[in-house]
Amino acid sequence: MKFIDEYRQSELARVLANKISRLTTQPLKLMEVCGGHTHTIFKYGIEDLLPANIEMIHGPGCPVCVIPTGRVDDAIAIAQQAEVIFTTFGDAMRVPGSKTSLLNAKAAGADVRMVYSPLDALKLARKNPDRQVVFFALGFETTSPSTALTVLQAAKDGIENFSIFCNHIMIVPALKAMLDSPDLQLDGFVGPGHVSTVIGTRCYDFVPQHYGKPLVVTGFEPLDILQSVYMIVTQIVQGRAEIENQYGRVVERNGNQRALEALFEVFDARDYFEWRGLGSIAHSGMKLRHQYAKFDAELKFSVPGLRVADPKACQCGEILKGVKKPWECKVFGTACTPETPIGSCMVSSEGACAAYYNFGRLSKIAERANTQPVAARI
Ligand code: SF4
Repeated sequence: MKFIDEYRQSELARVLANKISRLTTQPLKLMEVCGGHTHTIFKYGIEDLLPANIEMIHGPGCPVCVIPTGRVDDAIAIAQQAEVIFTTFGDAMRVPGSKTSLLNAKAAGADVRMVYSPLDALKLARKNPDRQVVFFALGFETTSPSTALTVLQAAKDGIENFSIFCNHIMIVPALKAMLDSPDLQLDGFVGPGHVSTVIGTRCYDFVPQHYGKPLVVTGFEPLDILQSVYMIVTQIVQGRAEIENQYGRVVERNGNQRALEALFEVFDARDYFEWRGLGSIAHSGMKLRHQYAKFDAELKFSVPGLRVADPKACQCGEILKGVKKPWECKVFGTACTPETPIGSCMVSSEGACAAYYNFGRLSKIAERANTQPVAARI
């Protein structure tokens, strides 16, 4: 298939893997920020092609994974109100809240519907003028422009029964939080691709300038990832730390101006927003500007608004910070599977736990058992 097969050629993959091996003379920890990259790495077995001294650390760039339990509870509380049709992307339906999920709330009678875009939700609002239609707005700058444009359309058309439960987040504050974390010593970043189509590459300049780390914005095919790793390792070997753009076929330095204008028109930064595993990060979440307040579901409906701790067994926080691997969680692949997720990282295909599970890293469970103290195994 044109524009796909070119990026999946196995001979080229081997050439790149050999070049990376020859260049890499020291242990390196590289973080792929985006959940889409995590998915590609496992789907195509890229970790197995890389030399043993390169460790890929899976970052917090899966939006369904980082939504905290308390916000899922808030979404369910809105969905359970009698006049509400609650609309959401499919993945978010299965994320566990503290007591139930949107999917279970639907089974219990709440009117929860899956949509493919916020415009589908707006269409539902037009068709159901006697109901309140709420859209569960989730995701980074990749998806927030479509929510912004939908709010602008609703405002233009004078639609009164549509609102959004806004959980849009921004990648740059999260990246800063990772770089400031004492737990994590990273040597470079496979930079996000989809987000960068909107925000460009300029906004990452602080990574080499203030932290001295290379970041290469990267596409989602296997050769993209291998080429990006090669570019990062080359920078490290040459003593450089720069922003480079491997995904030049899509990403521009200044991003997508039309999308950015829509974002700035509709959204403002929250003072703080809670991320699962990372805690509250300043200016990392979006909220509707006051002129669009009538589309804000948090103002229209009462929500519990509580911070809720993850279940004890769940180590999604450690996974999202990159300090643990999924198989190190005691319930990975046993009590927690994609069919019975205990934590959010097992829900979306972009989640690290789901990627490990779906692409055969179950052998690691045996490794986990062997790393436990003898007393714990008896
Ligand atoms: S295996 Fe399940 S419970 Fe454990 S960290 Fe992953 S998602 Fe959370």
